[in-house]
Amino acid sequence: MNRKQETINHKPVATALICNIQRFSVHDGPGIRSTVFFKGCNLRCLWCQNPEALKFENELVFSEERCISCGECVKACPNSAISFNGRPSINRESCKGQFACTLVCPSKALEPAAKQYSVTELVTELFKDIDYYGPEGGVTLSGGEPMLKSVFIKELLPVLKENKIHVAVETSGYFDWEKAEPLLSMVDLVLFDIKAVTKKLHERLTGRDNGLIHDNLGKIIGAGIPRRIRMPVVPGMNDSDEELEAVALFIKNAGESSVNLLPYHRMWENKLKKLHDTIKPLGASSLSEEALGEKAEIFRKNGIEVIF
Ligand code: SF4
Ligand code: SF4
Repeated sequence: MNRKQETINHKPVATALICNIQRFSVHDGPGIRSTVFFKGCNLRCLWCQNPEALKFENELVFSEERCISCGECVKACPNSAISFNGRPSINRESCKGQFACTLVCPSKALEPAAKQYSVTELVTELFKDIDYYGPEGGVTLSGGEPMLKSVFIKELLPVLKENKIHVAVETSGYFDWEKAEPLLSMVDLVLFDIKAVTKKLHERLTGRDNGLIHDNLGKIIGAGIPRRIRMPVVPGMNDSDEELEAVALFIKNAGESSVNLLPYHRMWENKLKKLHDTIKPLGASSLSEEALGEKAEIFRKNGIEVIF
């Protein structure tokens, strides 16, 4: 039986909201990958690159630059949530997320942030890229927080593994171990993000305590699950010498020998005005390779290999 036949034989049950399937990604694990961005996260990192993936429920995205001022959305909305004065104006409190406006918008200025997929629909999309994965590449489950979609992923992983596709998971580590453990034992690589190790700082930057994250990292290491610790380095947030030193020692004490440092980019701020949220732009500038290289020295000094 070939790979495509096995996929078609899969019986779908679970569904999940997915914001995006990014093809030909080279930043989310080894080789060339398709990265799946699930919707919903229980952290609120101040620099989250995917603000459209934070809420668990679907929401309306308005890309004003695409609007051709036709006024069709005003007529289509069953909740009178859109008024028009040369340009549409959305009353987000009245919007009930039925997305009737998105069906009539001719220029895709109005779109749902995510689309509901069954496992079969998702693997059909992922299989379109199978010839590009090669021996190293594959699929990366990201978000949002993919480990919060355990019912869906429990159905998805066996299909990908039966078809010998390398699977990586990008996670904040903030999940219920009981639900995640059987899934993580099926993945080829866990990309585990550490934002800060100082408790108070972590709470301020992400809105959550890091105790559960540290426990889960310990369990992943203990279970021998292949992993790579990563750290987004965000200017003025978690990049003080003291914090980086503390992270380096934390990694060392956990028995790990390397870290993947991720430079902060501020492109995500462009997405904010398209969404209804209280998230504010961070104001921090992107981090140059040179500046990141200087930060890397703190890890190297502590015996931690740095991967970019
Ligand atoms: S339907 Fe779309 S293009 Fe037309 S006014 Fe509304 S948002 Fe703009
Ligand atoms: S854990 Fe990831 S998806 Fe969640 S808020 Fe932080 S950066 Fe965004």
